[in-house]
Amino acid sequence: MIMRKKIWPRTLSDFLSMTFILAIVPLLYWFELWVVLPTVHESETLLYIGHFLFGNFIMLNIVGNFTYTVFCDTSTRRDIMPISAANTKDGWRLCATCETLAPPRSWHCPICDICILKRDHHCIFTGCCIGHYNHRYFIMFLLYLFIATTYSFCYNNIFIWNRIHFEFPMSIIKIIFPLAIFVFGFDGSIDQFYLLLYIVSVVGMLYTGVLCIYHFRLILNGSIANESNKRIYIYNLGWKQNVKEVLGDRWYLTWIIPYVTSQLPHNGVVWDTSNSWQYANSKNK
Ligand SMILES: [Zn+2]
Ligand SMILES: [Zn+2]
Repeated sequence: MIMRKKIWPRTLSDFLSMTFILAIVPLLYWFELWVVLPTVHESETLLYIGHFLFGNFIMLNIVGNFTYTVFCDTSTRRDIMPISAANTKDGWRLCATCETLAPPRSWHCPICDICILKRDHHCIFTGCCIGHYNHRYFIMFLLYLFIATTYSFCYNNIFIWNRIHFEFPMSIIKIIFPLAIFVFGFDGSIDQFYLLLYIVSVVGMLYTGVLCIYHFRLILNGSIANESNKRIYIYNLGWKQNVKEVLGDRWYLTWIIPYVTSQLPHNGVVWDTSNSWQYANSKNK
């Protein structure tokens, strides 16, 4: 992996979103494993230990995949660019901002201020672009956030409704508009703080759930956000190969931990299209 050097967020929205993630993830981790879990299951029972270990496994994947997404350089700055092979017929173009030739499927990011290989989008929560080399880590980060918030949601329901007396309509107002807690009086009780964390986990579950559906659909179709907007579907190589294009040849192991190596079939510069892929496969038969 080639490391990105300037990881400091470049815009205010990047900075605020990244700070939010870096604060809320440890906070929810503490809440779920040190507050909710000991209340729901007695400590030192098999169930308690099982959930504690599973919670830590999820957290390890969230932190690991976040770190890899942020640090992985997926820009055209990588030293893999065979400029001599550049041909406009193959989709190479001149990037006026970078003042260099950029390969097919790369797009210029005005925030990162460089062209990104197979650029999907600029993610404000990681403060960087998602492209060919960090797509795998981003999608695993997103998936584990969804698993974490869904898992939390199930347990938080047991925890919170045992503690908080449900009053109609105030409880509904507080859940739908989390900040209403402060308007209608934050009485300093820890329960209100727990209710706020509960709401954050519900919103997080819905948000990451929608994003998971959106991004997994794109991956299965061999497309990226930038291309689907322009209705470009020429890189669809069949669902299994499309998954390998993002997760690598050992795609079935990448969910375990980000440190598992999994070679990507393409280098981010030269691409197979549906036609060239079918042709190559028919010749191999
Ligand atoms: Zn550029
Ligand atoms: Zn960017």
